[in-house]
Amino acid sequence: GALSLPQVGTGPAADIAAYSGVWVFAEWRSGTIHKVSHELLSAGRVLANKRGVPLAAVLLGHRLDDAISEELISYGADVVYVVDHPELAGFRDDTYANILVELIRRKRPEILLAGATSIGRSFIPRVAASVRTGLTADCTDLDISEDGLLLQTRPAFGGNVMATIVCPNSRPQMATVRPKVMKPVPVPGHKGSVELVTAPEEWLRSRVEVLEVIPEADKTAKLTEADVIVSGGRGLRKPENFKLLEDLAGLLNGAVGASRGAVEEGWIAPSHQVGQTGRTVAPILYMAVGLAGAIQHVVGMQGSRIIVAVNRDPQAPIFDVASFGVVADLFEFVPEFIKRIRTE
Ligand code: FAD
Repeated sequence: GALSLPQVGTGPAADIAAYSGVWVFAEWRSGTIHKVSHELLSAGRVLANKRGVPLAAVLLGHRLDDAISEELISYGADVVYVVDHPELAGFRDDTYANILVELIRRKRPEILLAGATSIGRSFIPRVAASVRTGLTADCTDLDISEDGLLLQTRPAFGGNVMATIVCPNSRPQMATVRPKVMKPVPVPGHKGSVELVTAPEEWLRSRVEVLEVIPEADKTAKLTEADVIVSGGRGLRKPENFKLLEDLAGLLNGAVGASRGAVEEGWIAPSHQVGQTGRTVAPILYMAVGLAGAIQHVVGMQGSRIIVAVNRDPQAPIFDVASFGVVADLFEFVPEFIKRIRTE
């Protein structure tokens, strides 16, 4: 049936001046806060200071102990709105959206940020539609304009231009931000308060029943967290050759990534793909082996601290972003490199 989310919208004619404050949706999954929430609180802190308004974190879940709110305060939140209820123990689009919509209606924030995670991507668009405001997905930069608008910057046209988007006529101004784009900056000694919000039954009604939650396969989760990533492309030639990269990644305590070229060949699962339509990663060391470095790949890994490219074509674009370039046949270089690591 049709979705029946409350239409509480501000609409274009809304009294924009009545909206104040910066909010961050604090993503909580079975006991821990997602790192993107630390990153967003740090970004939100800067925006709130520029606007001269408070920064709030919104925390939904169940059995949320004080340490979680304290953690959010230690990343700069002035206030944490907590909704704790057994119905919120697991994520559900409709209940999470309903609650956030109701909170927006009551408290009227001017800015709302959330991670572009599977959870944020899933329910934040519902919230924006319900309150009839705009949403910029996958931002990579946020700032405040001279006239106080949120400047929401994100790659567009396949990463070839950076677009800065504003939402002048409705509130809140909403953006999702990819994990690992913003820097988490703790604010030692920061003081904040906690406000418990009781959710009435009608906020919690859901059409969804979660039967089972199957955690992401280990290797994939490892990709975005890994300090070292060894990625392969079409230069690998066949699936068995990814074993070579697994060996190398294993020695460096890292994870294996891939270009879309290799994924399209069916040599490796799509969950390993790095890039515009894959994961965004920013490890300490990123090794790009036998992949060209197309812009759609580069946007997903250019934040890496050290980039090592191995490619037999000296003109390959990956060398433009590489800290170290190795012009060589990967089938000669990688086995030799592995041998050296083993003996040293
Ligand atoms: P190729 O372009 O075929 O490059 C292979 C490279 O390996 C070459 O540079 C070659 O010199 C080198 N090589 C070959 N053999 C050897 C050898 N023996 N030793 C050393 N080097 C060797 N791509 C992504 O990766 N991620 C994305 O998220 C993504 N999203 C996209 C979204 C859109 C909308 C579009 C249009 C494209 C997207 N792409 C993405 C695809 C991207 O444009 C490229 O086609 C893709 O990244 C190419 O993969 P590749 O570098 O492995 O293959």
